Amino acid sequence: MKNEYDVIVIGGGPAGYPAAIRAAQHGRSVACIDDWQNYDGSRAFGGTCLNAGCIPSKALLESSELVHRAQHEFATHGISTGKVEVDLAAMQKRKAGIVKQLTGGIEMLLKSNRIDGLKGRGRLLPDNVVQYTDPDGKAHELKAAHVVLATGSTPIEIPAVKFDGERIVDSWGALEFDAVPERLGVIGAGVIGLELGSVWSRLGSEVTILEAMDSLLPMADENIAREAQKQFKRQGLDIRLGAKVTGAKAGKKGVSLSYEDGKGEHTLEVDRLIVCVGRRPYTEALLEDGTGVELDERGFVVVDGHCRTSAKNVWAVGDVVRGPMLAHKGTEEGVMVADLIAGEPGHVNYDVIPSVIYTAPEIAWVGQTEREVKDSGRAYKIGTVPFAPNGRAKALEQTAGMVKLIAAEDDDAILGVHVIGPMAGELIAEAVLAMEYQGCAEDLQRTVHAHPTLAEVLHEAALAADKRAIHAVNR
Ligand code: NAD
Repeated sequence: MKNEYDVIVIGGGPAGYPAAIRAAQHGRSVACIDDWQNYDGSRAFGGTCLNAGCIPSKALLESSELVHRAQHEFATHGISTGKVEVDLAAMQKRKAGIVKQLTGGIEMLLKSNRIDGLKGRGRLLPDNVVQYTDPDGKAHELKAAHVVLATGSTPIEIPAVKFDGERIVDSWGALEFDAVPERLGVIGAGVIGLELGSVWSRLGSEVTILEAMDSLLPMADENIAREAQKQFKRQGLDIRLGAKVTGAKAGKKGVSLSYEDGKGEHTLEVDRLIVCVGRRPYTEALLEDGTGVELDERGFVVVDGHCRTSAKNVWAVGDVVRGPMLAHKGTEEGVMVADLIAGEPGHVNYDVIPSVIYTAPEIAWVGQTEREVKDSGRAYKIGTVPFAPNGRAKALEQTAGMVKLIAAEDDDAILGVHVIGPMAGELIAEAVLAMEYQGCAEDLQRTVHAHPTLAEVLHEAALAADKRAIHAVNR
C-alpha cells in the first residue's frame, strides 16, 4: 500500500471496481477500498450485487425454476422422475460457490490490473485525503488526485417492523434461509419482493405479498404489469394491493403482522417475513465535515450529468447517486468517470438503460412506457405480439407473455420496448442496441432473425407496429 494514488475508489461493487479497473487501464495508480463483510466474517469485493443481491438471487431463482419444471413440466416432455425433493443445503452451497468464484474473480482482476484492493473502511476527509481503516482497526491517511465514491445502498427499515436477522429479514437474509418457510410474508411488491417471492413460492412456500400501492409495478408499462399480475396470481402468489403494514411482532414460532387496507385492519401470521420496501444510499460515516460533498434531502450524493460531486476531483457513481439502483447503470457510470479522469470522452445514455425483473416469466424493458409516450404528446404506433405462437417458446413450454414495441408515428424511432416472457432479460439487449444506435422500427423489421428463436417475437412486434406481422394478428 502506497500513501498516494492517482485514483482512490471507495466501494468495490459493480460501480466501484469497474471504475478502478478502467482507471488502471489508463495507467493511473489506483486503490479500491471495500468494507463488505459476509455473515461468516469473511471479506469480499463485489458489493451487494455479487455477495447478497443479483448473483445469489439468480442462482436460487434458477434452482427454484428447475424444481418447478421438474414438478410441473417434465411429465409433459415424457420424462418421469420419482418425487422431486429439494435439498436446500445443497442449493445454498451451489449458490455460495458461484458467489465465491465471482468475488474471487474480482480480486484477481484487481491484482492483475495492479490495483491495491484494500479491505476495510474508507472515509473521505477534506482536500482529497482518504482515511483507510484496515480490518485490525488501524487508520491510514492516503492522498489521491481523484476520489470516486461508490458506496452503494442499503435496505430501508420500516420503523414498526424492525429486522431481527432471524424471522424478520432484509433481502440478504432472505437468500440465506436454511429451511423453506411454510408461510412466507413479504412486505413490498417491488422488484425484490417479486423476485424473492417467486423463488420461495417455487420452492414450496405459501407466499403473501403486502403492497401499499394500489397497483403492481407502477414503473413498468401498464399492459406488462397487468400480464405480470395475471401470471403471478396463476402461480399462487397472494399479492394484496393497497395493504399498508402497520406493525409486526416476531415470536418463537413466527411473525404476527398487522396491516390496513380499504376494508379495515387485518392480521397475518407467517413463519418468516421479508421486508423489501426499497433501498437508500449508503453514506454512513463516509464524509467528514469540510469535504464539500453535498447530499440531497434523501441522502444521495449530489452529482452532475457526468457524476462530478460539488467537491473538486471527487466523483460519485452507482446507487449512492440519483437514478435507478441498477448494477449496470453503476458500472457504466464508473467506467465513464475513469475515462473522464483520464481526459478521454465519457458518457452514459440515461435514456437507454434496460430494466430486468427476474421473476418467472421475466420482465424487461427499455425506453418509455406507453403512458410516458402519451403524456409527451408524441404520436405513436404500437406492435404487440404474444409468445404463444412462437415455435421456440412452445418447445420451451414457456408461451406466456408478449413483446410490446412503441415507435414514433412521425420518424419511426423506437421509443420503448417491453417484454414479459421467457428470457426477457436476454431479449431486451437487442432493443437496447437498436435504441442506442437510434434505430427505428423498420431497422428491426429488416434485420434477419434466426429461426426458431425467441427473438423472432421482437422482430414480429416491430413488424406489427406497421401492421405487417406475418405470424400474428395485426390490430
Ligand atoms: P422497490 O422500490 O422496487 O419496491 C418497494 C415496494 O415496497 C414499493 O412498491 C412500495 O410501494 C412498497 N412499500 C413501501 N412501504 C410499504 C409498506 N409499509 N407496506 C407495504 N408496501 C410498502 O424496492 P425493492 O424491491 O426493495 O428494491 C430496491 C432497489 O433495488 C430498487 O431500486 C430496485 O430497482 C433495485 N433492485 C433491482 C433488481 C433488478 O434490477 N433485477 C433486483 C433487486 C433490486
